[in-house]
Amino acid sequence: MAHMVIIGGGFAGVWAAAGAALARGKRQLRITLIAPNDRLVLRPRLYEPEPDRATVELRRILVPIGVDHLRATVTTIDTDRRVVIADGRQEIGYDRLVLAAGSRLVAPEDLPGARRLFDIDTLDGARRLTDHLRDRESYTAVVVGAGFVGLEAATALAARGRVVLVDRSDVVGDQLGAGPREQIEAALDRLGIECRLGTTVTEVGDGFAVLSDGTKVEADAVVWCVGLRASELTRQVSGELDGLGRVPVDHQLRALPEVFVAGDTAAAAFDAEHTVMQACQHATPLGKVAGYNAAADLLDLPLRDFTPGPYVTCLDLGGAGAIFTRGWDRRVMASGADGAYIKRRINQRIHPPVDDAAQILAASDQVYLELPFLPRDEPATPEA
Ligand SMILES: Cc1cc2nc3c(=O)[nH]c(=O)nc-3n(C[C@H](O)[C@H](O)[C@H](O)COP(=O)(O)OP(=O)(O)OC[C@H]3O[C@@H](n4cnc5c(N)ncnc54)[C@H](O)[C@@H]3O)c2cc1C
Repeated sequence: MAHMVIIGGGFAGVWAAAGAALARGKRQLRITLIAPNDRLVLRPRLYEPEPDRATVELRRILVPIGVDHLRATVTTIDTDRRVVIADGRQEIGYDRLVLAAGSRLVAPEDLPGARRLFDIDTLDGARRLTDHLRDRESYTAVVVGAGFVGLEAATALAARGRVVLVDRSDVVGDQLGAGPREQIEAALDRLGIECRLGTTVTEVGDGFAVLSDGTKVEADAVVWCVGLRASELTRQVSGELDGLGRVPVDHQLRALPEVFVAGDTAAAAFDAEHTVMQACQHATPLGKVAGYNAAADLLDLPLRDFTPGPYVTCLDLGGAGAIFTRGWDRRVMASGADGAYIKRRINQRIHPPVDDAAQILAASDQVYLELPFLPRDEPATPEA
């Protein structure tokens, strides 16, 4: 029987498994998902105060749809021999492979005191930070990076303590563009977050951080939120990675004749001007299409093109609500309580269906999440 292997148990890997099971139907095809963890981690929710609630047991998705889970870490992909090596010793052959090993934050190892850094990139990282601050009446947290993740971390941490937000750029949300900036700045002001722009952290000590302008800042926790890179496994599939370490793929998400790539490891075209973001919003449909196509290719079925839905963002700003934007210029469509309502709905919708094969397969056939909850098409809060 032909064998399809998926590397990764995040949004892309899980949805690739469901997409493959959908294409398989009642035909013969063995599908194996390899991931070291037994849970899907809903990474977009790791800024929440109880990160353990942001997980879903993989077996509740994979067992109903007949996909095997090998609990292991892939160390080698040998595309000539069509095998992957798990945990450095177990060889697993494949007829088609989906690489969906995701991304990780790369903290600077040469930063003095780097081992003291916290993050909210992984479940373990988010747990460590939560446990460290849990029983304190108050604290000072230094958050490094005023991008999407850093802003969510900073505004969540501001609920119980003092927050200093540090960024090399002279503006907050530099990569989010000018669209939402005024509203982000207003939210940070409202929450009393101190911004140290045009600077970074150069040393982390016991209870303090040193900034590049020489200032020493009190810090019970320094939370590193910059520098996302695709899994190192991408190097074993392509010699032409993009700036984020991702593998270029065609419009059917194929990188090599037998290898498809999805999620944060894939540099797929969004449109003529843009490449997909390292975002669950794109990892989910990429996974569905890559998994479907890898199986369809083995079963002589027509392949699907990856045609993304509208690009949106929803940035949680803690006590100041959230900002929902549309388009690549990130026009603000809703903010404050309206935005927070949309963020709650999105955080519910990213939880895949469980225990019911029909629901899981139907969701994998619906490549894009519909957004019926958008309150209106015109900006809710006029831009100044
Ligand atoms: C705090 C935070 C907030 C975010 N907010 C948003 C948001 O609001 N909206 C949005 O769209 N996106 C958001 N994102 C980004 C989003 O979480 C990622 O884009 C998404 O998780 C990518 O999914 P993925 O499956 O490609 O990779 P990942 O989630 O990284 O999953 C990768 C999987 O592969 C496994 N794996 C890795 N290496 C190996 C290996 N060698 N062998 C086997 N398995 C391996 C991992 O264990 C994991 O199961 C946020 C991320 C963070 C951290």
